[in-house]
Amino acid sequence: MTTIPHGYIRAVLGPREEVLDGILRRSLLDDRLPTIQVDDNAGRVLQLLTLLRRPRQVLEIGTLFAYSTIHLARGLPEGGRVTTLEIDPRAAEAARRNLRTAGVEDRVDIVVGDARAYLETVPPGSVGLIFIDADKKSYPDYLRLCYPLLEPGGVLIADDAFAQGDFTAERTEGSDEDREAKAIHRYNRAVGRSTRLFSAFVGTQSGLLVSVKE
Ligand code: SAM
Repeated sequence: MTTIPHGYIRAVLGPREEVLDGILRRSLLDDRLPTIQVDDNAGRVLQLLTLLRRPRQVLEIGTLFAYSTIHLARGLPEGGRVTTLEIDPRAAEAARRNLRTAGVEDRVDIVVGDARAYLETVPPGSVGLIFIDADKKSYPDYLRLCYPLLEPGGVLIADDAFAQGDFTAERTEGSDEDREAKAIHRYNRAVGRSTRLFSAFVGTQSGLLVSVKE
């Protein structure tokens, strides 16, 4: 959505590592999974936020082939873990392989199934960082379910915060095709109104909305 100067970023921060390049090729070209993973700089932002927060427990909603998961896992402190939730068993299988290839499989648990069912089992206040990147229509539900799980000072991150540039969806009456954008705006507005979350948008390709629980 945002135009990102990928060439410049690579020139400054270095090219994509070979291991990540191989994971992308295998997952997109061989497995034919959809190209809806975070962009490289957004991956770096996830790793950076994890490095800053040093969470013992990270929760990710929407694994796909674990591109974002690898970045989260790389940012963990000693003994930290990522639990990542994925509804599609074929994607989860590719994720398992990719986590092995990246050498982070010992820090990640993949839970296959509907994220909502799992979220209801997580003890309140037990998670240091949550990354929401699954079905967009459920974003308001994910906010309701995830907020209590965060420890004080915990970080909440939502991808696709710019709703693919569909900023008019807030004002139009809901036809099926604009419901995803509407749900994202509902999430953004709720986060923006909250007096218990401090938030900022980060201008990655699809936009991250990053919040800290005060
Ligand atoms: N976070 C990944 C990355 O950046 O590499 C991309 C995730 S992709 C945008 C969204 C994923 O969420 C898909 O793989 C989809 O199968 C999964 N998903 C959709 N609905 C879900 C649900 N209710 N529970 C768990 N996963 C779900």
